[in-house]
Formats: sequence, structure tokens, C-alpha cells
Amino acid sequence: MRAGWRFDNSYARLPNPFFSRVNPSPVAQPRLVMFNEPLARSLGLDPEALRGPDAAAMFAGNTLPPCAEPIAQAYAGHQYGHLTRLGDGRAILLGEHRTPTGERFDIQLKGSGPTPYSRRGDGRAALGPMLREYLISEAMHALGIPTTRSLAVVVTGEPVFREQPLPGSVLTRVAASHIRVGTFEYFAALGDTEALRVLTGYTLERHYPDRAQAGNPALALLEGVMERQASLIAQWMRVGFVHGVMNTDNMALSGETIDYGPCAFIDAYDPAAVFSSIDYHGRYAFGQQPGIAAWNLARFAEALLHLVDPTPETAVAKATEVLEKFQDRFRANWLEVTRAKLGLFTSEPDDELLAEELLRWMHQAKADYTETFRKLNPDGKLPLKDDTVFNAWHARWTARLARQPQPRAEAARLMNATNPAVIPRNHEVEAALAAAGRNDLAPLERLLSALSRPYDEAGQPAELLNPPPPGTPICRTFCGT
Ligand code: AMP
Ligand code: MG
Repeated sequence: MRAGWRFDNSYARLPNPFFSRVNPSPVAQPRLVMFNEPLARSLGLDPEALRGPDAAAMFAGNTLPPCAEPIAQAYAGHQYGHLTRLGDGRAILLGEHRTPTGERFDIQLKGSGPTPYSRRGDGRAALGPMLREYLISEAMHALGIPTTRSLAVVVTGEPVFREQPLPGSVLTRVAASHIRVGTFEYFAALGDTEALRVLTGYTLERHYPDRAQAGNPALALLEGVMERQASLIAQWMRVGFVHGVMNTDNMALSGETIDYGPCAFIDAYDPAAVFSSIDYHGRYAFGQQPGIAAWNLARFAEALLHLVDPTPETAVAKATEVLEKFQDRFRANWLEVTRAKLGLFTSEPDDELLAEELLRWMHQAKADYTETFRKLNPDGKLPLKDDTVFNAWHARWTARLARQPQPRAEAARLMNATNPAVIPRNHEVEAALAAAGRNDLAPLERLLSALSRPYDEAGQPAELLNPPPPGTPICRTFCGT
């Protein structure tokens, strides 16, 4: 009780097929490696009560916080286009914590041992990937992008066996919920329309309360999810984020970014950028993300069809009408993002073209995405890029700025609040994780601290403000499951 947990487990009150009750499997020697004090405070928890050995035991799943009701959630998912029955194979939901202000958050242990959904997996996680999720999810939060968050990482004192033995680890994930497109696909595959009806009502109440009274709940949910995804993907692309594994089980209906596996941030601008070592065909490349979100939404719509309308043709027509809005919504969000990235407050018909031309130049010149935007300055001075194409673009951009009433200083403020100075660049992330593997957490702490104020340059380590030195960009990431 001392820590301030206040569990109220609404998901565990749903009917039987939604989950399996299962306890975390105890581990030998839990030790706390990372603890997110600001997040603990924002949840109304007492950080002091969450630092000791008792807390490490709890974050490892050896003990349970009061009123936790551990469950593994059932879900399916289209993985690289193929539907599979999945479920929490290495994660256990302890329950839903209610903050003092009444917000509800899932508290989930990831890497906490086998569940009925583990298939051939061991239910465990290695330290590197859990630290990676901690680092990148917290960076995304500081960048102002909806995301699950990370409260703690423990090591278990037990090895996990991948290609080699690695230190075992458990991450405590905090999420608005873990309801996924794949959760609906699970029940659609079973033909369980009643479960779909219950889940639709539950998801609306939890994430879209203003749509909960809609005449057609399934359609209202589809529309709400479509709008949040259209906004989320534009936000990812604002900062150069590549999720890397946008399977339908990794798309949260809350609109949060979820499941940090082989994700990465682009250095040089390239719509075809792919990092995941298993994404052979570039299905989840940087520039593919809006298209894949639309594809995932179509799978979501299919799962909902029986609820949308009893007549199949009518159901398809109604769902298609919603799905067709995605492209426009995404485009509107992206245009808003690019205007802000360019310091534009007003709108002109050629703004989209202006942004596209800069991106085309960046692609051709292999210019760094983050650095280029951050160094653009509305004061009219050319950044140090002696390139005729860029210079011509720059002249058009400064002329465009001059046609809006806002002073240049205001444009600069907007740009500095939109274009991060510091992102989790792959080479820095990998170096910090390698050091952590040698028990040196200092580089990770330093990176986390810089990433906690990504729009500030002042006081940041110089190397974090720069693109990777020549020859060092990292092109491959591994999901490490
Ligand atoms: P992910 O690639 O992390 O989104 O996981 C896809 C599916 O594989 C989920 O159902 C996970 O629970 C499951 N999974 C991943 N790693 C393991 C593991 N080590 N043991 C059991 N299940 C796993
Ligand atoms: Mg997943």
C-alpha cells in the first residue's frame, strides 16, 4: 500500500475468453537497473517506496502489488501480412492503476515468464531490448508523441538464451491500455460476435468516451481509431521515427505508440529507410508507414464488419467510407506538421510543394533529417550548405516566410518546438546499450537525460547534436525477442 498503488482491474472483469489468469514466474535475484521517478510521481506513486529490494522483487514479478490480478491477454495479429494467433506470450498485465486524478493505466510486466500464449517462446526478455524500449519510449514521450511508457527495468539474475546467453530482464510498461487491432482480430477469427460487441463497448468507454453513445458503436470506434492513427503516424514522421514492425498486434487502439522492437530514427532522409533485420522487403520502411497504417485499419474494419451492419454489402460500404478518409486525414496532419517544421503559421496552396521539394533535395543530397530542419533559420541566413538546389529552395522559403504576418522570431520559436535538436540516434543508442551490457549505465543515463529535453540545445553534449560521424550510421536493428 505504501507505494500508492490503486488497482481497479476492469479488463479482468471481462468474460473468460479475453485473457488467461497467470502469475509471473519468480526469478532468482531481482535487481533494479532503471527506475523512472518522474513517471512514478505522475502516477501518484511514492518513488521512495519503489526503490528498495522489495520493489525490485515486485518489478520482477516475484511479489505482487496489493489488488493486482495478473492476466495474459488474448490477441491475434497480422504479422508481415499473415494472420496468427498470438496473445501475451511474455507479458503479464498486473492490472489497471488509477491515478489520484482518475486516469487509468495498465501496469504490465514484460519478460515475466511463460503464459498459455507463449507458444515455443520462453516468456523472457533480455536486458538490451528492455533498456532499448525504456530509452526510446521515454524519448518519444519527451518528444510529445503518444506512447506507452516505462516505469522500471530489473535484471533477473538468470540468463536468457538467444544466440548466446544474455542477462534476463523485466520491463514495467505503463500504457493507456494494451487493446490492439489484433485483439479484435482474435475474436473475429473465432467468429465470436458477442465478444466483439463487448470489446467494442469496452474500448469506446475506455478510450473514446465521447463516441460511446454513438448509434453505430463499431463504426464510431473505427472512425476514432482511424483519426488517432492518422495523427500518430504524422507525428512519428515529424521526428524521423521508424516503428519497424507495424504488425496489427502492435497497433494500439488508444492511439499510443506500442511495442518498441527494431524501431529506429532515420539519420539521412530516405523514405525507403528500413532498419529491422527481418524486414527484407521494406514493408515497414519510413515512408511506407501511412500506407501500412491504412492496411492495418482495413484489417480492423474487417474484424468489425458483423457489428457495423448485418447486411454484408452495407457493412462493407459503411466501413469503406470511414477507411477512405484516412488518406485525407493523414495528409492534413502531415501538412500541419510540415508547416510547423518550416515555421509557417498561415497556409498557401504551394506549401505542400515547398515541403516536398526540401525533402526531395534532402533525399538526393543524403542530408540529415534532424540536423537540416534544426539548422534552418528564418533569419534569412543560409545554413552552411553550398548547393544550388538547396539555395534556390531556401530563397523561396524565406520569401514565403515574408508573406506571413508573424515575425521571424515567432517562426523560429515554432520551428524549435517542432524540430528536435536531439533524437535517439542509432549509433548512440547502440553504444549506450553496449556499455550497459558491461555494467556501465552512465552513457545510457546521459542519453536519457539529453532526450528528456529534446528541443533544447543548451547544455547538451555536442556529439548528441550531430549526425553520426562518417562511416558510423547503423543500418540494422534487431527485435531481440
Ligand atoms: P512482438 O514481436 O514483441 O510484438 O511479439 C509478437 C508475439 O510473440 C507476442 O505474442 C509475444 O508475446 C510473443 N513473444 C515474443 N517473444 C517471446 C518470448 N520470448 N516468449 C514467448 N512469447 C514471445
Ligand atoms: Mg507485439
